[in-house]
Amino acid sequence: QRTDFIAFCNHIVDRFEMSKRQNIHFVRKLPKKPIYVDIDRDKMTQVIDNIYSNAMKYSPEGGSITLKVTKKGQYLKVCISDEGVGIPKENLSKVFIRFYRVDKARSRKLGGTGLGLAIAKEMIEAQGGEIWAESEWNKGTSILFTLPLDKGGDHRD
Ligand code: ATP
Ligand code: MG
Repeated sequence: QRTDFIAFCNHIVDRFEMSKRQNIHFVRKLPKKPIYVDIDRDKMTQVIDNIYSNAMKYSPEGGSITLKVTKKGQYLKVCISDEGVGIPKENLSKVFIRFYRVDKARSRKLGGTGLGLAIAKEMIEAQGGEIWAESEWNKGTSILFTLPLDKGGDHRD
């Protein structure tokens, strides 16, 4: 489905902002112009929902979750950063493995099955993109992904 990714993201973040129970700031760094991608909207909603709910689970009171979208050549680059506990360097690539969870005790307390990011990776790769994590222990985590821009159409600028 041809989709303006900027409007799509705004809609998802609006929903989180309205339903939030924690004191969290939702920061958006989005281009003003639409950026079109060809995505399965239901699946992409699932991907972003999981990244946001992870960020919220591991965020401190008053922390910010920042969404940044930029254009990089033929790709769209999305970065969702939090100011939470972070992920140790040696575990960064493992969080995309099914059922993998960084700290068993902490994760059990916070709930979840360890499937969210594995599913996100499958979905992003199925749509022709890549996904990875960057993090500094105790400073925060960023989940980044790319998606190919929709080639068809007259949206060039
Ligand atoms: P599920 O998504 O299935 O409910 P989950 O959130 O534990 O369970 P994933 O979303 O796949 O599973 O995340 C895997 C693990 O990566 C988490 O258990 C957590 O240890 C770590 N992780 C993910 N996102 C963050 C984050 N923003 N900050 C710190 N750790 C994270
Ligand atoms: Mg999750």
